[in-house]
Amino acid sequence: MARPAYRGRFAPSPTGLLHAGSLLAALASWLDARAHGGLWLVRIEDIDPFRDIPGAGEKILQTLARFSLASDEPVLWQHDRLGAYREALSRLLEKGMAYGCACSRHEILDWHHIYGGNPAVYPGLCRNGTGGRPVRSIRLRVDDEPVAFTDRRRGPFVQRLESELGDFIIRRADGLPAYQLAVVVDDGFQGVTDIVRGEDLLDNTPRQIALQRALGLPQPRYLHLPLVLNERGEKLSKQAGAAPLPEDDTMGCLERAWAGLGFPRIGAGSPQAFLRAAIPIWAGRWGG
Ligand code: GLU
Repeated sequence: MARPAYRGRFAPSPTGLLHAGSLLAALASWLDARAHGGLWLVRIEDIDPFRDIPGAGEKILQTLARFSLASDEPVLWQHDRLGAYREALSRLLEKGMAYGCACSRHEILDWHHIYGGNPAVYPGLCRNGTGGRPVRSIRLRVDDEPVAFTDRRRGPFVQRLESELGDFIIRRADGLPAYQLAVVVDDGFQGVTDIVRGEDLLDNTPRQIALQRALGLPQPRYLHLPLVLNERGEKLSKQAGAAPLPEDDTMGCLERAWAGLGFPRIGAGSPQAFLRAAIPIWAGRWGG
C-alpha cells in the first residue's frame, strides 16, 4: 500500500514561551515536512491547567510567525478535544483494554517497599478490580511483548512495557487525560504520518505505539532530535523557566537551532531565505 502523503506536526505545551530547544524541534519538523513535500501542523497541547500559562499558546504562535513558521491547517487546541479523549477512554474501558485504578502513588511505593522491584513500575494491583475502593486513575493494560520501532536518527529502540513500566496511566487522578492519550488520539485525528521531536520523548514512544495499537490507529515514523542543553548540561524546559528566545535576534536564533541540528551556518538575510536554503540541505541528510 502506498504511504499516505506526509503530515508532520509541532505540538508545544504552553507551559512557557518558546526557548532554543523548542525552536529546534519546530524548525526540524517544518523542514522535514517541506523536504517531503508535506504539510506541517501546529497543535497547542493545553490541557493541563496546573502547568499551562495563560496566553502562552498565542505567544508561541506569534513567535513561530516571526520565524516564518505557520501551521498549514488551522491550529488544533487540545482544550477543544476533551470529548475525543473521553470517547477514546470509554472505548478502551469497554474493550477491557483499560481499567480503573484506586492506587495512590504512596500505596504503590509502599507495595514496592514490602515486595521489592522497580518502584517506577506499576505492579498491576487493580488489574482485576479495585476491591471496592474508589477509582482514581485509568490505566492501559500492557503485556511484556517487546514494543519495537526504528527511530530515523537513533535506530532500533525497544521496551517491554509490563516489566519496565507496568500498566500506565491514561487518565490522571485529577480527571485530566494523560499526555500519552491526548497525543495519540490527536496524532491519529490529524492523520500525522511523521513525528519529529526532542529525544526526551524517545522513551515515551513505545507507550504511544501501544496506545495506537489499542485504538486501531496507524503508527507514524519517528525522528527524535538531539536536545539543547543549558550551561549546567540540563535539558531546556519551558516549565523549568528556560530563557525565552530573544526578540531581536531572529536570524541568530535560526542559525543556532540549525547548528544544534548539526549543520553549518547558512548566512541568509531573512527567515524566508534561510528556510528556502535549508530545505535541500535537510533533504540531503534526512531524505525527502
Ligand atoms: N507537548 C509536548 C511538549 O511540549 C510534546 C509532544 C510531542 O511532540 O509529542 O513537550
